[in-house]
Amino acid sequence: MAHSIRSHNPAQELCGVSLNAPMAHIKVLMCYAIPGRVVGLEDRIAFVDYFGETKKARNDFFQLSIGEYVYAQGGFVIQRISESEAKAVLNTWEELFFKLKEIDSDLAQNPKDLRQKANLIRQKHQGNSCCVHGIIEFSNHCRCDCLYCGIRSSNTAIERYRMTVEEIIDAAYFAISELKFKALVLQSGEDTWYDEDKLLAIVQGILRKSPALLILSIGEREAGLYEKLYQAGARGALLRFETSNPDIYSKLRPAHNLDERINLIKKLRDIEYLIMTGFLIGLPGQTQDDILSDIQMTNSLGTDMFSFGPLIPHPQTPLSGVPCPSIDDTLDTIARARIMNPDARILVTTSMETIDKENALRSGLLSGGNSLMVDVTPAKYKKLYDIYPNRPGMDAEVSETIASVLKLLNSIGRAPVDLGL
Ligand code: SAH
Repeated sequence: MAHSIRSHNPAQELCGVSLNAPMAHIKVLMCYAIPGRVVGLEDRIAFVDYFGETKKARNDFFQLSIGEYVYAQGGFVIQRISESEAKAVLNTWEELFFKLKEIDSDLAQNPKDLRQKANLIRQKHQGNSCCVHGIIEFSNHCRCDCLYCGIRSSNTAIERYRMTVEEIIDAAYFAISELKFKALVLQSGEDTWYDEDKLLAIVQGILRKSPALLILSIGEREAGLYEKLYQAGARGALLRFETSNPDIYSKLRPAHNLDERINLIKKLRDIEYLIMTGFLIGLPGQTQDDILSDIQMTNSLGTDMFSFGPLIPHPQTPLSGVPCPSIDDTLDTIARARIMNPDARILVTTSMETIDKENALRSGLLSGGNSLMVDVTPAKYKKLYDIYPNRPGMDAEVSETIASVLKLLNSIGRAPVDLGL
């Protein structure tokens, strides 16, 4: 598989955002990656320098030479760029890069409680980078009947949609070329209408037009299919195990069993996908000990990115009457996960925003989180991916959402980039 290397204007590569204090004096141009210079090559690993800091990234897609400039994402080199383009972007980043680190480090000092301690661990081990991934929810058809989920097969009240292969490729192209995302999650219900041919056409079609780290979130499909999609260039798999408690699992996911899901996640790991997994907080019958086991299980799967969030009861599901967990419980879970795994990315999910619209992102990022997703599903489909109610940002323009995310990151000293391992 070869990514196309297009020549383009470096100024277009930058996302301009006007910001308030504390960085108002700096002309801020943000984007989701900083170019790095290849300073070493060893088998499949490229050593990439960012302002004097060297990180590793797997080089699966290019014949690289020392001295070349690249973008890396999630630990993979995903794009090669020219020196002049890289230098133009780096010039705009240089002052900001160090300023943001300073703000982050100042905020993390003198921790007083569990969440602040977790934030300091994040700052020490992970620095101030925060991955910002786009997500396209391309179908809400699902063959599963999970008791918690609004798109469960027996919910007849929901309007179903499927994006065509072309629509998905176009939406991805827009997210990568116009909105400047470097990593994109493709999520759907477990929808076998997308067979091997269609899924391969989607992955190949996207990568032919625009280089990106593609992450699949398509449910329990055959390992062989995942293997082919990996060969086509997909590199991430997002598949939550939902709960480590087998009894709760089998009650909430009829006709499924936990071992099968865990085995699939392990197979995906063996294929060498980046693994994103996790669980739901607030399931009926779940205890604090279960949540600690959930964190341990996430760790034991060799997870690159934790993805967990509160259960938001959906009115058309059997769990409609279950209480929502509190934002405090959710933030403490982020903090515990961070303390138990200093090195993983931890996603602050949109479901957390549903229970605390104003502050969840900021609080999650200051409790150990260092990753966010922005919904880039085309407006006409967005609201229909109704896995839980009151999802944030449904009426906002995606550009507004991006601007407010970047503003938030800037205010707490986080760079919206993923520098690699
Ligand atoms: N088919 C894919 C994607 C499922 S939707 C898969 O099986 O992985 C993505 C995630 O949404 C699920 O894994 C589940 O953890 C979460 N989810 C479903 N219903 C939810 C609800 N009511 N509240 C919060 N999260 C929910």
